[in-house]
Amino acid sequence: MMFTFRIAARHSIAVAVVKSKTHKVTAINARFLFGVTVQGPRTFSIDVKYGKDRNVILMGCPGAGKTTLGRMIAKSLSMPVVDIDDDHLEPSWKTTVGNKLSEVGPERFLQLEGEALLQFNRHKTVISLTGSNPMHQEAMEHISKSGIVVFLDVPLQDILNRLERMKVDRIVGQRPGVSMADILKYRQQFYEKSYDIRVICAENDSLESIADKIMKALERFDDRQGYVSSRNSKNAESDQMNLNQVIRKGLAGDGGLYVPASGIPHLQTTQWNRLISCSYQERALRILEQWINPTDLSHSNLKSMIDSAYDSFNCNKVVPMVHLERNQYLLELFHGPTASFKDAALQLMPQFFREAVKCESTRYLILVATSGDTGSAVLDGFSRYSGDSNQSVMVLFPEDGVSEIQKVQMRATPGDNAHVVGVRGDFDFCQTAIKKIFNDVTLISHLRENYNVKLTAANSINWGRLLPQVVYHASAYLDLVNQNVISVGDPIDICIPTGNFGNIQGAVYAKAMGIPIRRFICASNNNNILTTFLNTGIYDLRNRSLHQTISPAIDILKSSNLERFLHLVTGGDSRTVCQYYKSLETQKYFEVSPEILKKIQTDVIAGTCNEQECCETIATVFKETGYLMDTHTAVAKVVADKLNTGDIPMVIAATAHYAKFAPHVLQCLGQSVTTSDPASQFKQLAALKPRPLLHPELSSVVSKPPLHHSVIDGNMQDVIKEIVKFIQRSG
Ligand SMILES: *Cc1c(COP(=O)(O)O)cnc(C)c1O
Repeated sequence: MMFTFRIAARHSIAVAVVKSKTHKVTAINARFLFGVTVQGPRTFSIDVKYGKDRNVILMGCPGAGKTTLGRMIAKSLSMPVVDIDDDHLEPSWKTTVGNKLSEVGPERFLQLEGEALLQFNRHKTVISLTGSNPMHQEAMEHISKSGIVVFLDVPLQDILNRLERMKVDRIVGQRPGVSMADILKYRQQFYEKSYDIRVICAENDSLESIADKIMKALERFDDRQGYVSSRNSKNAESDQMNLNQVIRKGLAGDGGLYVPASGIPHLQTTQWNRLISCSYQERALRILEQWINPTDLSHSNLKSMIDSAYDSFNCNKVVPMVHLERNQYLLELFHGPTASFKDAALQLMPQFFREAVKCESTRYLILVATSGDTGSAVLDGFSRYSGDSNQSVMVLFPEDGVSEIQKVQMRATPGDNAHVVGVRGDFDFCQTAIKKIFNDVTLISHLRENYNVKLTAANSINWGRLLPQVVYHASAYLDLVNQNVISVGDPIDICIPTGNFGNIQGAVYAKAMGIPIRRFICASNNNNILTTFLNTGIYDLRNRSLHQTISPAIDILKSSNLERFLHLVTGGDSRTVCQYYKSLETQKYFEVSPEILKKIQTDVIAGTCNEQECCETIATVFKETGYLMDTHTAVAKVVADKLNTGDIPMVIAATAHYAKFAPHVLQCLGQSVTTSDPASQFKQLAALKPRPLLHPELSSVVSKPPLHHSVIDGNMQDVIKEIVKFIQRSG
């Protein structure tokens, strides 16, 4: 065995890395540990979980097959195996577990069982725990420090059938009047907080197939290739990052976007089946677990993040699926606190961010330029989850360039760590100002040295914003199965009003994970640069200017997340991707080869919607169905109608609540808008009795007093002055 010691200068933590056969690239792993901000016992346990001496610990319900699977896994890994029941408890108690349980009773039994596990010290062994071991916290922590805990997540019904067949009668908690199902459900909470990796077992899964899944999960755990830039080759080790680094950094150093280095996780159809009966939060956990290595973010931590993120949604389904007409379904993505789909990511991403910076002593200032929905969603997410407040957010927006409602939303954000600044200038100025600030080395080091503050962006290219968006597309599919619209395996189409390509890229990843999405339909308004690209293969900024539309969130010229799609569709050809973007920078356009275009078009089709079509559709759909769409959703609806083949279900992403764009929507309905006061506009909308109802948080925010009100001139000096003033105040 060989140890490598390294000292991380900034954190002064010594990290020991154990070299082993399972580490294909030990140097990279060392660097990963190096970059991860780990302290105390976690340093120790990460080392052990990767070390060659680590145990593989199988955990799960009684009847999950732990004993047999333990033997199978031990054989595959050429390791010895210990069954805690048969090989540890019974020999040391000199009686059967059943006898012991009836002798001492359940409470004492758990205590004695825990004490026995605390005495257990083996390395390099496959260990099959008892079903009740996880109920003893201290013992579980002890064993978990010796290796990697694999949770066999077997369907409850399978367990019940097996226990019935086996006539098992020695389960802790078993007594007359308590059903086995209740005992097992009660147990889940202990399993759920004790595992490193969950293995989702299919219904009636064979032991061979479960063993195979365990081996794959272990492989994936050990394969810590992390993330690379879309413009950098896979082999460039120097640019591989772990999750926390990628979330802190946002944009890669070479201007590219971070993508997973070792491909996209995949679930089998039979595993997706297991997620059908799950809540949104449970689906989110199981899906994100596939992407997030537990040593970057433990899955029990991930679970609590997900739970609090989606607790803030005003619908218990989080992202409900509503039938619109014919084969069309609306995926209502607007039930979050700020009423646009951005909440789905921005209630979670700030928690990822907090985790990523938690061991740093620097403060972070998140700087955002917004022309609308991003500002309020970033403010809400970061002010809600700032915690120990070493993060603050400052949002710049064009004072006369966002809607009254969006302004009201931003200004009502509570918390000392938020600052909202209206700029006498346009959005372009705000965005350019922030870009200049990020490139202003003098200012950056001034802020570091004098205030201990680092600047960062939370824009839609951040991996932490993209990842949560995979979940709702997969969840949409499972809901259609749940509603008996389709059977598992049937294809669907998804139509999305698209700006920065973030939402649609989430769907692309959901498909790569195994969700049978036939086509992604990219919908644009008059700013149709993306649609033209998808139809011709030429992304052309020459002679293009931005048109202002009634769907402003997709008024866009540079669609930044498209780069991730191009990276995927070229099979990870980062050199080609790099050429595209170099050409875009220098020649203002790029063109993909006919082969790549063909590949793109097998997955993605695109269409546009003009202002009149958008307006008419809002009115017609409302008249015919009583459902009121916002302007962005209407863009998607128009394109869905144009490109609809009618044969399979079409999911339309409803990206904002209609009230958020109240004046436009009222005008489309032929109502005269006589007031600029959002509360009155909401009343006017409510009087039409539309489906869905008004958005509760949006309705209440308009009666809240503005807590922030800075308006500055549109020049760099004033922006910088405002930043420094805010830093001084919030420090
Ligand atoms: C941000 C936004 C979009 C565009 O999403 P992208 O991920 O940038 O494509 C569409 N609709 C609404 C309402 C938005 O706020």
